[in-house]
Amino acid sequence: MTLDAIVIGSGPNGLAAAIALAQAGRSVRVLEAEATIGGATRSLELTQPGFIHDVCSTVHALAVLSPYLKTLPLAAHGLEYVHPPAPFAHPFDDGSAIVVERSVDATADSLGAADGRAYRQLIAPFAARAADLMEALLGPVGVRHPLLMARFGVRAIRSASALAHGRFRDERTRAMIAGAAAHSMVPLEYAATAGYALGLIVAAHAAGWPLARGGSQQLANALAAHLRSLGGEIVTGMRVDSLDRLPASRVVLCDITPRQFLRIAGARVSGRYARRLARYRYGPGVFKMDWALSSPVPWRARECARAGTLHLGGSLAEIADGERAAWEGRMHDKPYVLLVQPGVCDPSRAPAGTHTLWAYCHVPHGSTRDMTTRIEDQIERYAPGFRECVIARHAMPPAEMERRNANLVGGDISGGASDLAQMFTRPVFSLSPYATPVDGVYLCSSSTPPGIGVHGMCGYFAARAALEAMGR
Ligand SMILES: Cc1cc2nc3c(=O)[nH]c(=O)nc-3n(C[C@H](O)[C@H](O)[C@H](O)COP(=O)(O)OP(=O)(O)OC[C@H]3O[C@@H](n4cnc5c(N)ncnc54)[C@H](O)[C@@H]3O)c2cc1C
Repeated sequence: MTLDAIVIGSGPNGLAAAIALAQAGRSVRVLEAEATIGGATRSLELTQPGFIHDVCSTVHALAVLSPYLKTLPLAAHGLEYVHPPAPFAHPFDDGSAIVVERSVDATADSLGAADGRAYRQLIAPFAARAADLMEALLGPVGVRHPLLMARFGVRAIRSASALAHGRFRDERTRAMIAGAAAHSMVPLEYAATAGYALGLIVAAHAAGWPLARGGSQQLANALAAHLRSLGGEIVTGMRVDSLDRLPASRVVLCDITPRQFLRIAGARVSGRYARRLARYRYGPGVFKMDWALSSPVPWRARECARAGTLHLGGSLAEIADGERAAWEGRMHDKPYVLLVQPGVCDPSRAPAGTHTLWAYCHVPHGSTRDMTTRIEDQIERYAPGFRECVIARHAMPPAEMERRNANLVGGDISGGASDLAQMFTRPVFSLSPYATPVDGVYLCSSSTPPGIGVHGMCGYFAARAALEAMGR
């Protein structure tokens, strides 16, 4: 029997695409290369039995705000999001820290009179309309809420560095903005990096930066359970190496990146599209670490113990330096470290009294350098005695990340560089970015709009494009 749809890959975009197709009454089969589902939302006992670590994504603000995922009955399939008391914190060498709280006012009050006023003016109007903003940011370009987007756009188009210097007086506030913007993996003096800081800070106030109780795998499991309840199938351990060897289906949706697509499409893609796809740029890689800890991290700034996420990197200048180095293919001695302490809100991930810890730093694309010492030195800088709490550690350089998930090309977690030039032209400049020249074959990974993040919107929009074509 010919299936309506095959989806290659079971990341959040693949599963969202499959669900959207199944909701429309289509028969769907998901083919996943690895032994378990979820792509970059998998969880595993990486260090020791009983310690559940998120192999890749862990903070699911975008999943909670996703216009599509929030319509799905995922709680009924066991998914529960838990919130740290504060979304994120940024510690400094003098033992102080800025804590970004759920409340805009509480955060602004902690920044001093001038920066507090500037913060409120900048963030409050967007936090008040966060659902509309996310609908526009995660939706098709330029369609929804034009006035709100115009207001956001003139601020977001700046570089993070310009926004921080232009709006704030205190170096500490500027550093906090840099820490949020550095999630982009794009140099902080590049246009549009301010948008990452603004979007993530607004999300922190509007929805928190929550984690899935029991690990990110719970999101993948809930999506899979919902898909199966709609009649969809998932086959694991099935790596697709050629479009020509797939079971018969009317459409194929590929939750993979351009380089892999070119490989499995072979001679079926050629000419201009193939050349443009071959020019698609990948970004820096990440060096990922996980720890089993005997006690919470001993932060010098005690308020850091309330935050789920920490940005370790000191001043704006230092973070900007490190991000530029990774982008330009150079190593940096004091990399910006993005760290999450799940134990703050989810004790279920480790045996009683113990904790898990998650962190990564940005490194040159495909780097083979071991960053363990540099990452741990950055943690010790703000939490002396940290190493004494370590029961076990697990490190993943870019090549290991890619071995576990072929989409993480050279350790790039974004599915391709996310600078302004490629933000709206993923994977090529086109009015229908999901369609490929191969009839009935679509791309649906984070290499398509709206890009990186656990939100499923790339999959949802690709499925809509496929359904429209099937309807015709
Ligand atoms: C270390 C790390 C940390 C991150 N942290 C966060 C975070 O905290 N919050 C957040 O929102 N986002 C985060 N992200 C980004 C987020 O996880 C990704 O943007 C998102 O998972 C992309 O989803 P996807 O479905 O496009 O691809 P993926 O999740 O990468 O899934 C792709 C799937 O396709 C499968 N596949 C690949 N090739 C084939 C093939 N040939 N045949 C069959 N199957 C194949 C892979 O095995 C994989 O299961 C992080 C990513 C990483 C790597």
